[in-house]
Amino acid sequence: MTPEEFRGAGHELIDWIADFRAGIESLPVRAQVEPGEVRGRFDPKPPSGRDSISTLIDMLESDIVPGVTQVQHPMHFGWFPSNASLASVLGDIASSGIGSLGISWESSPALTEVEEVVCDWMRRLVGLSDAWRGTIHDTASTACLVALLVARERASGLSQNRGGIQELEAPLVVYTSRHAHSSVTKAALLAGYGWDNIRIIECDESMAMKPGALAAAIERDVAAGSVPAAIVATVGTTGTTAMDPIDEIVAIAARRGLFIHVDAAMAGSAMLLPERRHLWEGVEAADSISWNPHKWMGTILDTALFYMRDVELLTRVMSTNPSYLRSSAFGAVTQYRNWGVPLGRRFRALKLLFHLRIDGIDAIRDRIRRDLAHAEWLAGEVSTASEWELVAPLSLQTVCVRHRPDGLERADLDKHTRRWVETINRSGEAYLTAAEIDDGWVARVSIGVETTERHHVERMWELMKRAAAESATAVVRD
Ligand code: PLP
Repeated sequence: MTPEEFRGAGHELIDWIADFRAGIESLPVRAQVEPGEVRGRFDPKPPSGRDSISTLIDMLESDIVPGVTQVQHPMHFGWFPSNASLASVLGDIASSGIGSLGISWESSPALTEVEEVVCDWMRRLVGLSDAWRGTIHDTASTACLVALLVARERASGLSQNRGGIQELEAPLVVYTSRHAHSSVTKAALLAGYGWDNIRIIECDESMAMKPGALAAAIERDVAAGSVPAAIVATVGTTGTTAMDPIDEIVAIAARRGLFIHVDAAMAGSAMLLPERRHLWEGVEAADSISWNPHKWMGTILDTALFYMRDVELLTRVMSTNPSYLRSSAFGAVTQYRNWGVPLGRRFRALKLLFHLRIDGIDAIRDRIRRDLAHAEWLAGEVSTASEWELVAPLSLQTVCVRHRPDGLERADLDKHTRRWVETINRSGEAYLTAAEIDDGWVARVSIGVETTERHHVERMWELMKRAAAESATAVVRD
């Protein structure tokens, strides 16, 4: 494709994207396809033709869009918001169009230095001190893996330069809460700690880690001859957005020199609001932090910020310096390949830069405040409605509820919850997530899609009441 051909095709595609977003509300929220159906629409033989952009746009309409759950739909209340602001989409297109290769500072000085600038803007915007330096990983899962690799090396005196953890006499231990994201245990396993050395710490009634239980677990491990290495604390858990008490956890960690990674994948966006920063009080004493602008803030995937205080340690653990990547700039510049696992990186910073410069931080903050107000409204409705209950304290924008009709046996409650949630999801009119937490299944209404206004939340509440009433009748009949 020549640049001239690209110009014409690109305009057509942008027009299509704009129409798609403008009309998204008319689409079903959940993908209405059966397993294998999308695959079945494609010829197993690789394509040989020279298709026009119009043919490919037809394919997007007929074969791709029906197989996409529309997380940009204003009636999407599932998982966590995964906003893809159109301003950041433009940044993504610019990044792809420039087509730079980030393997060293020299391979794209702009890629490196804009990432430094943008990470520093984001640091200031969430009120972190200048003790932190940041990078952009693909996901919070990767960020947690990097953190636990660095923690492993810190606790083992850089054992990777000798026999690795296989030479250690005492096992290294990681601590996290029962409500931490599954990516935390996955990262601990990948980093070689082993199941036997992952301590899942009890939580209080708000589903936040109990500092007393954490301290006791650490002391038990010390007494048993193990080496407490790292704590992963969560600010905004996936189930209910519970907040681990960071200030108490950092104090406990300091006594034994544990590494602390703060997973604020979801709640980081709330830290853009000065009035919410008490939720991660104490964070300055942590060692690393990750948060995802690609969730609620709305910079399209994959944009996961990762901040470290001890960058020298990070780069000692992650460095590679093959001859073909050395240059005269060595030492004077940031080499982001030494901040994580991949060598080649994309120009991700442009997504954040476009988002901040086109939409503006004031509008982003207003939207986040709007979503918090919507969640408070819904939580108020639920808490005063008969037969409905709030299952967890509302700390951000995710409202966790149960419908508990009179006379329904406890054994039938989970079935009922999952049934009414599925009724809504199947309808295509809206989408929410059923999840299992401490004492059974709950429905999570996670508010925060860019286009969700109050009337959408009101409509959702109507759908919930209707679906729950129908399900209750059916459960009693069963
Ligand atoms: N941590 C928390 C608290 C999350 O809620 C999630 C995803 O929802 C993750 C980590 C993983 O995020 P990612 O998809 O960026 O790996």
